[in-house]
Amino acid sequence: MFKGILLTKTEGAYAATVQSIDDAVLGEGDVTVGVEWSTLNYKDGLAITGKSPVVRRFPLVPGIDFAGTVYSSQNPRWKVGDKVILNGWGVGESHSGGLAQTARVKGDWLVALPAAFSTRQAMAIGTAGYTAMLCVMALEKHGVKPADGEVLVTGANGGVGSVAVSLLSKLGYTVTASTGRLQETAYLQSLGASHVIDRAELSAPGKPMAKERWAAVVDSVGSHTLANACATTRYGGAVAACGLAQGMDFPGSVAPFILRGITLYGIDSVMAPLAKREEAWARLARDLDVAKLDAITSEIALEDAIAVAADLLAGKVRGRVVVKP
Ligand code: NAP
Repeated sequence: MFKGILLTKTEGAYAATVQSIDDAVLGEGDVTVGVEWSTLNYKDGLAITGKSPVVRRFPLVPGIDFAGTVYSSQNPRWKVGDKVILNGWGVGESHSGGLAQTARVKGDWLVALPAAFSTRQAMAIGTAGYTAMLCVMALEKHGVKPADGEVLVTGANGGVGSVAVSLLSKLGYTVTASTGRLQETAYLQSLGASHVIDRAELSAPGKPMAKERWAAVVDSVGSHTLANACATTRYGGAVAACGLAQGMDFPGSVAPFILRGITLYGIDSVMAPLAKREEAWARLARDLDVAKLDAITSEIALEDAIAVAADLLAGKVRGRVVVKP
């Protein structure tokens, strides 16, 4: 038995409780990990509150990511004592996840912890930060250079947004941060944002095309914000779309694609192949300013995670939250 959050659904009643959990809840896997740190991502907020049906099996331990030490392994890639990271693969959705002291997963899902990071720092980055890196990699692959002009980051005070602002500024890009929390302007500037704009400029229905502003965009918000971001991206520019904090809809027009040749990249972290994950984590080790990472991170106990999950969905959480199980 070990401590963790357990999600249950009995006769339609959804519940999340911190309790002693039986090993059988962990499910199948060839590597057992002692979880040192987990974190709260947007999807964990949806899972813990039950606000959206992301959990597909009950009872289940939520937590789409964790970092820790291998306790036991039948997988040739891993031995006892190895430090590992897990992101995605349906963990915390259909397979028990990281918000408990122990996790059991397929060894093929794990990535080695880069030497540059502690397990706590890896979870301060978490799936949100790793996804921000995937977005930046997509824009780089497109050929976007710092000299091309401003890069817009939406949902800038959130987990993906905070890490994206930090990464892009370290890489020399001029970053415009879009946020609903203008009171956090100084915080966003400390991460490297050159300009901070009110998200209301982007979140209402807009024109199919408007004045060209951005060389590229990292969007974690979706809906009208994504449509307006595309409508204001400069000729030949690129938009990396990874989120739906405003909505899952995309009420846009083909005009920016066929008249300005812009490209929309879809970014998925959950099923990304191992090589891409390893590249993203290696890039984070090289390109993320660890002092800035510490500045965007707050720490909570497992017992607090259920309440903070609701705050996260309400847009009240700034940056990244690590959880000590
Ligand atoms: P988060 O920390 O909750 O950040 C989301 C941010 O979006 C908020 O902080 C807020 O930023 C902004 N926002 C919230 N509600 C909004 C609204 N109604 N309209 C406009 N902006 C709004 O969440 P996260 O962990 O960074 O995740 C962000 C999104 O990316 C989520 O939709 C998540 O599911 C998605 N995601 C996808 C992947 C993938 O593999 N594709 C991986 C990780 C995350 P401001 O306060 O600054 O406005």
